Amino acid sequence: MNVVVGAGISGITVARLLAEKGEKVLVVEQKGHIGGNCYDSYDENGICVHRYGTHIFHTDLEKVWRFVSRFTDWYPYMHKVLGLVDGQLVPIPFNLNSIHKVFPESLASRLEEKLISSFGFNRKVPILELRNAGDPDLDFLADYIYRKVFLIYTMKQWGLKPEEVDPGVTARVPVYVSRDDRYFQNRWQGIPAEGYTPMLKKMLDHENIELRLGCSWKDIEDQHISDRIFYTGSVDQLMERKLGDLPYRSISLDFKTYKKEYFQPAAVVNYPENYDFTRIGEYKYFLDDRSANTVVSYEYSSDYVYGKNEPYYPVKSDANLAKYEEYVKLAKEKFSNIYFLGRLGNYRYYDMDKAVESAISLVEELS
Ligand code: UDP
Repeated sequence: MNVVVGAGISGITVARLLAEKGEKVLVVEQKGHIGGNCYDSYDENGICVHRYGTHIFHTDLEKVWRFVSRFTDWYPYMHKVLGLVDGQLVPIPFNLNSIHKVFPESLASRLEEKLISSFGFNRKVPILELRNAGDPDLDFLADYIYRKVFLIYTMKQWGLKPEEVDPGVTARVPVYVSRDDRYFQNRWQGIPAEGYTPMLKKMLDHENIELRLGCSWKDIEDQHISDRIFYTGSVDQLMERKLGDLPYRSISLDFKTYKKEYFQPAAVVNYPENYDFTRIGEYKYFLDDRSANTVVSYEYSSDYVYGKNEPYYPVKSDANLAKYEEYVKLAKEKFSNIYFLGRLGNYRYYDMDKAVESAISLVEELS
């Protein structure tokens, strides 16, 4: 019997693919619902709320898009994020439109020309790279964006300065030499038309799959029913934190309902300078839900503390990756047929599409 531990998007993808190959799969999930952090549900206003924060599916991976599209139709939503910078709501990633919003016209035009001649139009430039441009105007611009978009947001989100986090993290939101205000430029993007939970439920709907909610690995470990374990939780917990905790960042969401049609002009507004929260998500935008009320979440970041909050983001560093590898080695000594996957299991900052891709690859490798 294959046992998948954790019913998030990674575990469910593996379960489905194994089931379609004729294998029996038991999926155990310690929470009372499926979906992991993609879990969503409708509230009393008829608004589909992402219970663990805003999730937007976007990918250039055709294989992934074809796979997930077997289980859902898509609402063609294109994500836009605004950030409050110097009292103006400007497009994030910071782009040429943002420049024209915050600077006087003559300065904005000069900066635009410099950016285009130095990097080319439609190019994405990580902020840490822009800081090395070596031109006085671009140095000024880089310093402005660094201080007003990245520094305080990243301190709030990671407890570290932008140059102290893995460069791949801030490069997710590069300065964009473009007038395209979308957060993602991927070929395929959208929100499952009925929500993520129904999409994932449909994936689990297979005669070879059994789902047990409210059931953890510890509950079944002693029954020795697993020939192969697909573990999507954090490996330090599996190994009883023998080598100490693997660091993660956590978030907490403060949901509020307002008696007004809309609270803010976009699904996500970032607060890179003000307040303790990093951003506010407004959920009715994703599927254009109609209601006289609106529900939003204020998002706060903190360190993950075992037993107190949930791990959300692995904190990539050489030391942490080395500890992760040590844990995986220990786990493989204890369990002969164990595979790790997902954001927690692989200790990788996966987007949903990359989580699905890696789950598909794992099953392909096994066959
Ligand atoms: N970031 C920032 N200011 C912003 C948006 C992002 O400093 O307005 C940085 C921050 O370090 C963040 C990273 O870019 O953790 C990646 O942002 P993304 O929106 O991809 O994060 P996620 O949605 O995965 O939390």
